Amino acid sequence: MAMSLTMETLVSLCKRRGFIFQSSEIYGGIASCWDYGPLGAELKQNIKRAWWRDHVQLRPDMVGLDASILMHPTVWKASGHVDHFTDPMVDCRECRRRFRADKLDETPWTHYCSAKKGNKFAVPPGEPCAHCGTRRSLCPECGKGELTPPRQFNLMFRTFMGAVEEEATLVYLRPETAQGIFVNFDNVLQAMRRKLPFGIAQIGKAFRNEITPGNFIFRTHEFEQMEIEYFVNPNDTVNGKSADEYWHERWIEGSLAWFQRYGMRAERLRLREHDKEELAHYAKRTADIEYRFPFGWSELMGIANRTDFDLRQHAQWSGKALTYFDEERKEHVVPYVIEPSAGVDRALLAFLVDAYREEEVRGERRVLLKLHPELAPVKVAVLPLLKKREDIVRTAQGIRAELARRWAVSYDDTAAIGRLYRRQDEVGTPFCVTVDVRTVGDAERAERGDGRVTIRDRDSMQQVRVPIPELRSVLQELLDGGEWGTVTARFGAGASPEAG
Ligand code: ATP
Repeated sequence: MAMSLTMETLVSLCKRRGFIFQSSEIYGGIASCWDYGPLGAELKQNIKRAWWRDHVQLRPDMVGLDASILMHPTVWKASGHVDHFTDPMVDCRECRRRFRADKLDETPWTHYCSAKKGNKFAVPPGEPCAHCGTRRSLCPECGKGELTPPRQFNLMFRTFMGAVEEEATLVYLRPETAQGIFVNFDNVLQAMRRKLPFGIAQIGKAFRNEITPGNFIFRTHEFEQMEIEYFVNPNDTVNGKSADEYWHERWIEGSLAWFQRYGMRAERLRLREHDKEELAHYAKRTADIEYRFPFGWSELMGIANRTDFDLRQHAQWSGKALTYFDEERKEHVVPYVIEPSAGVDRALLAFLVDAYREEEVRGERRVLLKLHPELAPVKVAVLPLLKKREDIVRTAQGIRAELARRWAVSYDDTAAIGRLYRRQDEVGTPFCVTVDVRTVGDAERAERGDGRVTIRDRDSMQQVRVPIPELRSVLQELLDGGEWGTVTARFGAGASPEAG
């Protein structure tokens, strides 16, 4: 069914099914802070785990790091954040709302049109009024107040460290994880005996006092980043290109491919190059990967060539050499760095949006999260068909306990089977395992069970009965990407469309 997903639908599903809740909700909430519920926490872990495995564990040229959030305040002088990590903001003199001056034309604006008896209209972003032709000059929200001239506003959260308040040191909550990597460059180089090119990856929290947060978890004050600093020798050439340009390309391609490997549709991803005006002062080239969210194309991650800016800055401010000794050329070089930087929360939002499907099955609406099995919060749901039958329950619980040693498994007996399947579809559980009378038999009627359970596939809704001793290996094969048809063909005529 071709339906476009709205944010309201997604936010409501996330709350109802335990993915994401508003922070401090019982106190009325706090703006733009969100809590991950039981399923959201699993999904987030799975995204981070997949990213870490693919980018750190599987690559001989990468290592990991987990730096502290609070750092020496000079770090942020050296990095340029104290002086430059600002957004221009304007305030409405009437309603006192605050906006980012550079984003004013990206939201619809409220207009009281003189050509239409002063009636109120919502005009599309950046467009003039269709009736009187004027462009927005007042507050886009209330449509009445004059806006103040833009002022620069630093996005770093400040706090104080030390027991005595007057003597306490001003420290910042890190606005990006990257600087923790740069200041540890030499530690890692020495400890791990690396040769260029090599990269350091880190996943962790970052904080920004955004002027206009919003769109659910897309832009928040507290978020998680998955960042890599990939150090290359700027004097090297690879395939006729300078090493930094070559590796920048490789990371752009690799990052796009990574999102697609976990299911994101190619037509919802695009690359956007920063033009000269937009480019950060340290960057040679930056490309953003954008995703088509329900609110439009927006940045999912950025991949920047930061040159040798950061290492040079930290060397200058700390007085410590941050160089690499090039054995071949017998010289010290300051490596260039390619920085693929992704937001965990934004990736999670994009994966959810991408996975969402609505289908019609036998006249009923089926909501489905077609999440990649590796990302799905629950891998297998074990469902006893009759919760009053002790032998069925015992068998089902035994299976649950066995599978839970390896995967996130859920057990649900609180509704009829059709309903239970729909619930699992809505949270993206790839496989359900059902234990029924046929499995255990019926002692009263002297009927023996066949010792098989039904596996039901989320996407095709097909079912197959497999012997309990083979269940774990079959599920493993399916979760590893084994074709449903190939795997189930081994169990003969058992495969059938969903019955209930
Ligand atoms: P934007 O232009 O959207 O503010 P940015 O270009 O400032 O983002 P970067 O500094 O490049 O973002 O940060 C790298 C990544 O961190 C972003 O691509 C995004 O995924 C994530 N990120 C940045 N700011 C936020 C935020 N306020 N909330 C959630 N994720 C964020």
